[in-house]
Amino acid sequence: MTTAQVKEIFTSIQGEGHLVGYTQLFIRFCRCDFNCKICDIDYKPDATTDTYTANSLAERLKSYDNHNIHSICLTGGEPLMEAPFLKEFLRNITLPVYLETNAAMPEALEEIINMIKYVSASIKLPSVCGCEDCFDKHAEFLRICKRARKNMYMKVPFNENVTDEEIDKCVELAKENDIEIVLQPVTHNGKIVVPNRYLPEVLERFRKKYWHVRLIPQVHKILSVR
Ligand code: SF4
Repeated sequence: MTTAQVKEIFTSIQGEGHLVGYTQLFIRFCRCDFNCKICDIDYKPDATTDTYTANSLAERLKSYDNHNIHSICLTGGEPLMEAPFLKEFLRNITLPVYLETNAAMPEALEEIINMIKYVSASIKLPSVCGCEDCFDKHAEFLRICKRARKNMYMKVPFNENVTDEEIDKCVELAKENDIEIVLQPVTHNGKIVVPNRYLPEVLERFRKKYWHVRLIPQVHKILSVR
């Protein structure tokens, strides 16, 4: 029987991307395959972290009133690290499922794609995250989503370091899959840390190459909710 460590479960307002403003039930998993230098998410396990089986997590969710909840948000960390667990767990779930992911684990996605409705695919720019170039993995990931006709968008966390080459690669991915790009300025301790003048400038650099681009900051941080 597979298990997964869950850092926290809570209801809140989705603060990012194309479903911004909807109430979701968030399940935050504890592992990630990236180590982004901009990461300010507290996802690692601590003394209060619980380990669940698929059944015990489904049982735990029964204590929430589903009527006001738009969808379940799988987040982390990287929820696809728990793909074998999710394959069992999602069979018991009736609410629509929203996956927040770094979009770099296409094989794991294949395992559960049929049980997901919405995908928030975070594109990792080496100049911003300090990671390796993983555009090939992103491309494969988005192809799977497109083939399965998922409701998805590309989230691109950015700061003033984003390069023209990275913008070209993002635009190529978006065009290939006919999806929206949501630019998200990097925050730290709840505050946007990208100097103000770069916000319209980076948006304009994307917009010159692709029409379907919006800039949306992390609204939950502005609202001071989780
Ligand atoms: S992928 Fe997300 S959770 Fe993982 S280290 Fe990067 S920002 Fe943090």
